Amino acid sequence: MGTPLNLRTGLEGSQAQEAGRPKCHSLHLGILSFIVLVLVFFCYGFLSHRIQVLGNSAGETCMAIRHLDVQEVITVSRVAYPQPKVLTPTRRDVLVFTPWLAPIIWEGTFNIDILNEQFRLRNTTIGLTVFAIKKYVVFLKLFLETAEQHFMVGHKVIYYVFTDRPADVPQVALGAGRQLVVLTVRNYTRWQDVSMHRMEMISRFSEQRFLHEVDYLVCGDVDMKFSDHVGVEILSSLFGTLHPGFYGSSREAFTYERRPQSQAYIPRDEGDFYYAGGFFGGSVLEVHRLTKACHEAMVEDQANGIEAVWHDESHLNKYLLHHKPTKVLSPEYVWDQKLLGWPSIMKKLRYVAVPKNHQAIRN
Ligand code: UDP
Ligand code: MN
Repeated sequence: MGTPLNLRTGLEGSQAQEAGRPKCHSLHLGILSFIVLVLVFFCYGFLSHRIQVLGNSAGETCMAIRHLDVQEVITVSRVAYPQPKVLTPTRRDVLVFTPWLAPIIWEGTFNIDILNEQFRLRNTTIGLTVFAIKKYVVFLKLFLETAEQHFMVGHKVIYYVFTDRPADVPQVALGAGRQLVVLTVRNYTRWQDVSMHRMEMISRFSEQRFLHEVDYLVCGDVDMKFSDHVGVEILSSLFGTLHPGFYGSSREAFTYERRPQSQAYIPRDEGDFYYAGGFFGGSVLEVHRLTKACHEAMVEDQANGIEAVWHDESHLNKYLLHHKPTKVLSPEYVWDQKLLGWPSIMKKLRYVAVPKNHQAIRN
């Protein structure tokens, strides 16, 4: 906004001084205003929030203009909704902010109408990545059908299905503004390798296409179904989800990688939360950074003959300890009802495990 004004002032200044002044003086001023113009042009490029530079594995860079930050202030219309009450906390039973002031997303803490308007005005597009390798293709139908009912309804969505069995991807009727892209990828023999290599593939495809196609990425396990609303309240530069098995635990009890030889190592006196490997996301830029870093850490571990105790989840936890997420999702967003029932603090169960026979499905 300030840029055109500065440019115009500079030109007018040099033009005004042209009349009745010695030639060399006006030449100097001409060069000066040219330098100012060039500087302003470059500064604008650097400061523009919409332009980002993404380093790829070859060390080259590519420019993208899709990133939109949730912190931008945008104009919303007059909408009737309940007034926020300063003296009436929305939740008294759970933590609603991290110590670094990232919101923790629980039912009751947000007004979805306000958020939907904000994200619609930005014409936000959300990519949902899911891996269905080998026998896990059987989970796709329920995953996609329930996502159609509950995931980002009213917004633009692209499902990215990574699979080695493209012919087994089911036909699911998609709502307006929603697309499905099948990405054929290789498989691995060990289920641990299938799980871990998700980081590599998300990272690679972020550079190749996600950056140009969507604003945010949400990365989920496929052996799950959506059972209640999951919407734009989750979107932020970088988010992780509280693992349903550990939200009440102290940090010493978290199943972090405890061997210092691993890149995922976290000492017993460190750690904020234990995040679930099965649901995380953020802007394409931040998800690219996260997945690339986790993949590189796993490559290093492999070279050192060590594999983190919970695979990609261990590396995700290490990354999110040192790169604090800008939103944290409550366990409403990753739940296992068979294992954990339905405690009263969970007002909604939104994304829940589909029971599976581990042995049968993994072999
Ligand atoms: N996965 C897959 N095929 C496999 C193993 C894993 O597609 O043979 C993917 C799938 O998306 C799955 C995720 O990796 O949801 C993580 O594995 P899993 O769900 O078995 O781990 P858990 O949730 O049981 O820890
Ligand atoms: Mn799973």
